[in-house]
Amino acid sequence: MDRLLAHPEALLLASRASRPFISGLLEKVLDDLRRDFMAPSRQEFSEEEVTELVLQRLKIAYSKGLEPSLRRVINATGVVLHTNLGRAPLSSAALERVVEVARNYSNLEYVLEEGTRGRRDQHISGLLNQLLGCEQSIVVNNNAAALFLILNTLAGSGEVLISRGELIEIGDSFRIPEILEKSGAVLREVGTTNRTHLEDYRRAFNERARLVLRVHPSNFRVVGFASRPNLDELLKLCRELSIPLVEDLGSGCMADLAPFGIADEPTVRRSLEIGVPIVCFSGDKLLGGPQAGIVAGQAEWVGKMRSNPLYRALRVDKLTLAALEGTLLSYLVRPETPEVPAFRMIQLTSESIHRRSEAILAQLTNSHPGLDTCLVDGHSMIGGGSTPEHGLPTCLISLRSSSKSASEIERKLRNFNPPILTRIEKDCVLIDLRTVFPEEEPVLVKALLNL
Ligand SMILES: *Cc1c(COP(=O)(O)O)cnc(C)c1O
Repeated sequence: MDRLLAHPEALLLASRASRPFISGLLEKVLDDLRRDFMAPSRQEFSEEEVTELVLQRLKIAYSKGLEPSLRRVINATGVVLHTNLGRAPLSSAALERVVEVARNYSNLEYVLEEGTRGRRDQHISGLLNQLLGCEQSIVVNNNAAALFLILNTLAGSGEVLISRGELIEIGDSFRIPEILEKSGAVLREVGTTNRTHLEDYRRAFNERARLVLRVHPSNFRVVGFASRPNLDELLKLCRELSIPLVEDLGSGCMADLAPFGIADEPTVRRSLEIGVPIVCFSGDKLLGGPQAGIVAGQAEWVGKMRSNPLYRALRVDKLTLAALEGTLLSYLVRPETPEVPAFRMIQLTSESIHRRSEAILAQLTNSHPGLDTCLVDGHSMIGGGSTPEHGLPTCLISLRSSSKSASEIERKLRNFNPPILTRIEKDCVLIDLRTVFPEEEPVLVKALLNL
């Protein structure tokens, strides 16, 4: 080890990085090499040859060791808000705000007009209130945190009434009953899994009840013999019982998606307009911004959450605020068709995706002879727990090879630099350009020619 570390090439690497980093890599390389040499039928190596081998592997380990683990990928799955792929890509406007605020000092908690201390929420709340039509709003780390803060503030150790049909799990360990329990509140289940009536809420109500929670069913739907009271009825009952109604909207749809064939996604504005006192939703789902949880509603309630010490622990950093402000400004300029990538992807028509797919196929004339490509009709998914039964009609590039299995093709694309993620259906690899940026198409072509 000492002799290897003293080798000029190792010294050269050590001059660029720290010695412990290099010796750590070297140890790992030696371990691997010892294991390789244990295997029978290995040829004999001279000391020089071993040194050469070690240094060669050290150099590879060095560049690998400095490679970032969190990388960009090309999303050809057609799932617009893919939680495993970072949900919403940010708009250029949002990114510009992030770079400017991150690179420099900012007025994060400073009122420039008065030269006094300010609050970090001053930058966003005005904009949110205007866009959503609410009295007050705050931003925390994610929607799970938003819900936690709401329950902790408003329910304390009292009871929260929820329909049994809304006790959902979103995936990645977000479960409504568990969040509720951790917040200190007591779950009071109402109705049944498929049907909950207004009367069930009334019957479940008692003096320990603190609020009614209404949860967007997100990634699942109960179909068939199913019902729940509409929002207006539930709101009326809550007024009568003098407890607030809280609505967890999940995906937080800001613009009407009906023109794109999605009619049942409730908008945040509509809930606030009809008088729901408190709503919460994610920043990186349909809003198309950074990871965040937004709480909006009547000042009386949101103010209480703002002064809960827990808010301090759940608040967002300046990068998130900058990205969120940049995203929200796009909605201010064009509320129906904001310049936000996730929104634009949802808007794409199957015809335009078809045209782009054809153009890609036209460039594959030199691809390997056994590769069989064609275009098929299919569906893209919005993802992020929104509108599960609504696929968006799309055009898919379907790949099949006489010499490789679908999973081999999928793996090869996934190991490309940058990685390209696709899906497999019926032994074909499917590429959906809805979620591929036009700038990424040349790379995609290169990867396909390389198959
Ligand atoms: C996605 C979702 C959440 C969790 O939101 P995060 O921002 O991922 O924390 C909570 N509730 C509902 C209804 C959701 O759809």
